[in-house]
Amino acid sequence: MTLAERETQVVERVPKQLFIGGTWRDAKSGAALKVEDPSTASVLCEVADAGTEDAFAALETAVAAQPSWAKHAPRERGEILRRAYELLMQRQDELALLMTLEMGKPHAEAKGEIAYAADFLRWFSEEAVRIEGGYSVAPNGQARFLIMRQPVGPSMLITPWNFPMAMGTRKIGPAVAAGCTMILKPAQQTPLCALALAEILREAGLPDGVLSVLPTSDAGGVTEPLLRDGRIRKVSFTGSTPVGRKLLEQSSEQVLRTSMELGGNAPFLVFDDADIDAAVDGAMQAKMRNIGEACTAANRLYVQSGIATEFARRLSERMGALRLGRGTEEGSEVGPLIDAKAREKVQSLVDDAVSRGARVLVGGSAGDGDGYFYRPTVLADVPQSSDLSTTEIFGPVAPIIPFDTEEEALTAANDTEFGLVSYVYTQDLNRALRVSEELETGMVGLNQGVVSNPAAPFGGVKHSGLGREGGRVGIEEFLETKYIGVGGV
Ligand code: NAP
Repeated sequence: MTLAERETQVVERVPKQLFIGGTWRDAKSGAALKVEDPSTASVLCEVADAGTEDAFAALETAVAAQPSWAKHAPRERGEILRRAYELLMQRQDELALLMTLEMGKPHAEAKGEIAYAADFLRWFSEEAVRIEGGYSVAPNGQARFLIMRQPVGPSMLITPWNFPMAMGTRKIGPAVAAGCTMILKPAQQTPLCALALAEILREAGLPDGVLSVLPTSDAGGVTEPLLRDGRIRKVSFTGSTPVGRKLLEQSSEQVLRTSMELGGNAPFLVFDDADIDAAVDGAMQAKMRNIGEACTAANRLYVQSGIATEFARRLSERMGALRLGRGTEEGSEVGPLIDAKAREKVQSLVDDAVSRGARVLVGGSAGDGDGYFYRPTVLADVPQSSDLSTTEIFGPVAPIIPFDTEEEALTAANDTEFGLVSYVYTQDLNRALRVSEELETGMVGLNQGVVSNPAAPFGGVKHSGLGREGGRVGIEEFLETKYIGVGGV
């Protein structure tokens, strides 16, 4: 089979309808949404385009399924997740190809995301049976406290396009483990991964009505009426800070539980005493994972003056050697950006920095072809005042900003409303701990360029969000605490 035939086959295999109450159906309006391949700007296929009526149909099934799902044995909920984990891994190659086609990342990286996504299901399959309560004696000895944990209830899950599988499983895993029913609204650029995931969960034995998946070109029309309805009890969102703010406002009406995984503007600090090879490796990972389209992407590289020139030289060499190409091509290391708008934004940020005195060491322009390619770029001597240091780049651009003292680096790193992750490279243990304590972020990569791990609590502070996903605390986001005061014992 040729690659082109295989591409057609993986796209054809995915259900193209809405998944509501365990069945596949067309949108009530009959509307369809085009899915594009960002590496060629051509249309891959169409999927059903949900509207408000479909959203309410999904809500009815989520509400109807909630009581029996909450009573489902935790072990069975865990086993459904475990089976879904196995299925994802069995189909890793084909699912990765699907992801590459609709999102653009190179196939090897897409395979990595399938494994990462599957691991959330495995992690939460193990957590489903570890939901614990408590029993204690009141301080005055005259009552007993019984503490139980219960599912929050029907939940709205909203995910972005950049990690189309993992952002889904990072929410579905804990929601299933906790016993919540859910409606997933994937990003309109990447509905195919979400639909494929729904089919896998169905095959794994997820009961009808527990999960609905609604691709739509009208995000607000599908989610807002449900958030204002009162029967949805939770919204878990991953995406940009402005949309997160809007959802928080909407959630206030019915006082919903909220989890917000929002934008980032990660500082990457390299001190003179760092292992420079390790720092360059880490910068490559932190910058280039997912073509730079990650909330955790190193956005500002602060490098101490003594090593700034050498660090910039080595990083430029590595960035310049990366192979740009369609993610399905053998040896391709950098795929296209998601769309034309994303590429224009990256170019305008680079132009702004250059107009303020930054020097282009490598890259600085769009790639060839019809797709939305942008060349891996390193900019030196970027002034702190440039838009690059305040805006989430979401592309393969590494701005290097030199600094002299630790205090100066910390002040610059914290000078942002975002607070998702920061990276620190130093071999001085005292400095490592001191700086990690001072950084205003929910996560710190200390001498490592990747922090994401299903077993660790992922999340940000300040405008980067509320709550944590993954780790032991991940399931908490989908649980309520009920306290029963027992008298007369
Ligand atoms: P986005 O524009 O905020 O979109 C995210 C999701 O929200 C999409 O499903 C989108 O649907 C939906 N949406 C947009 N407007 C909405 C509205 N008014 N009501 C309800 N839903 C709405 O973000 P993006 O550009 O896809 O993703 C990139 C952003 O996500 C970056 O800021 C990145 O840092 C952040 N992110 C954060 C994390 C984290 O864990 N902190 C992880 C990954 C990404 P449409 O597709 O229809 O617009």
